[in-house]
Amino acid sequence: MTIAVIIPAAGTGSRFGGSLPKQFQPLAGKPLIQHVIERFLIDENVARVIVPVAQILLASVKNSERVVFVAGGETRQQSVIRGLAEVDDAELIAVHDAARPLFSEATFHSVVAAARELGAALPVIPIADTVHRMNSDATVAETLDRSMLAAAQTPQCFRADILRDILERAQREGIEGTDEAGLAARFGYTVKAIPGDPRNLKITVPEDLVIAESYLEQWSRA
Ligand code: C5P
Repeated sequence: MTIAVIIPAAGTGSRFGGSLPKQFQPLAGKPLIQHVIERFLIDENVARVIVPVAQILLASVKNSERVVFVAGGETRQQSVIRGLAEVDDAELIAVHDAARPLFSEATFHSVVAAARELGAALPVIPIADTVHRMNSDATVAETLDRSMLAAAQTPQCFRADILRDILERAQREGIEGTDEAGLAARFGYTVKAIPGDPRNLKITVPEDLVIAESYLEQWSRA
């Protein structure tokens, strides 16, 4: 089995603030994205890790045998599409947010196994907060039934033909998704949810780095 991994990392991280996008912020002594890349490389089924980054950064990064940097696109989805162009004959393709340094190898193995069997899979976690749909004037429109909701995490994994199909169709139909699992479901594929991990948080604001650092410390002591 061969797996290609695409890590879209071309965002500017506007919610994070500062001049360095969040995926390049230092975490326990190295850039966040490096934690992510290294964790995928541990798996010998991962033939290639493809990292779409902002064009301006391309000159300062170096490709290696299994890690390839490419220019990202205008949106997350466009960046994934640019990455897809670098996938050769992998059987499965995983997509993972650059800003999630704390996914576990166990989660990766579970989504890979589920995607192999059913075509597409992602980790999800239950929603602890009550979620409201809002009006544009910042008043509550309605409360959603949170037992029917789940928060999507990455890595998400797909059979290569499925990922190619959904991204081509989204492109053709002008649909911009915030993750690939949503696109796959929208286009009629079965997308299997496996239990995610609350520690696999997406670094969004500076405070998240402090939390991530303490999780990493716990891991290294475990
Ligand atoms: O903004 P958000 O946190 O949803 O971004 C998810 C991932 O997509 C991040 O890793 C970000 O770097 C990436 N991204 C990208 N190209 C863009 C916008 C976001 O690769 N144009």
